Amino acid sequence: MSPEGKALLLEGGRALGLDLSPHLEAFSRYYALLKEANRRLNLTALEEEKEVVVKHFLDALTLVPTGLFEGEEATLDLGTGAGFPGLPLKILRPRLPLTLLEATRKKLDFTREVAEALGLIPPHGGPQDAGMRFLWGRAEELAHTREREAYDRVVARAVAPMPVLLELALPFLRPGGVFVAQKGPRVEEELAASRKALEVLGGRLLQVHALTLPFSGEERRLVLVEKTAPTPPAYPRRPGVPERKPLS
Ligand code: SAM
Repeated sequence: MSPEGKALLLEGGRALGLDLSPHLEAFSRYYALLKEANRRLNLTALEEEKEVVVKHFLDALTLVPTGLFEGEEATLDLGTGAGFPGLPLKILRPRLPLTLLEATRKKLDFTREVAEALGLIPPHGGPQDAGMRFLWGRAEELAHTREREAYDRVVARAVAPMPVLLELALPFLRPGGVFVAQKGPRVEEELAASRKALEVLGGRLLQVHALTLPFSGEERRLVLVEKTAPTPPAYPRRPGVPERKPLS
């Protein structure tokens, strides 16, 4: 990452109330790997350094000031893609037990590569680090395994509209756990269509937190949903069904 990129990350971090100076090298390395992998795998649409810093790194880090990821909360990043928001969260909170879930194998492999390069997990072949796990598959199927109701937190960015996302995410949460969806400013419409999904799946809208991304000025919303009751075993429905026939 260029000196300008690092300065942008530091200043953006300060705007979020975060001191990123101890983490500059980690983000710099992540950026280099992203750039290199993008050429090979077309992982993200964002190319410019400034865009990666603001729309990937800083956007992911808007989760930290919620205070929901401070200790030992078992956390699942659903549909992590190239590692967002999970990896930036883990860089800042290395003790957080984090699982990255992703349907596309090459993307999940990339996140493992980054985690290794950043020293977040031991080198390949070393002992399995319980602090970080990588799950390859569809949420609709994995939510019917031992992963069901195994997490205190689920996070997701840019995965699906709210009614669909709730069906994918809530089954992974323990009652009392919190789902945080990273959304854009038009999430109110999605929420209006989510009442049935919340009721059926056992969720309660806690809060919609509005914020503006540093530098770009783009509006973001963090939607916090509490799991209030166990999700009925029929959910999530088979792969693709939540998307084709959202609960509404
Ligand atoms: N969260 C990342 C980000 O914000 O950069 C990736 C966003 S990308 C638009 C959506 C990702 O979710 C894709 O990598 C896709 O494979 C994954 N995904 C979508 N539906 C999924 C499902 N049902 N189960 C597992 N992964 C899913």
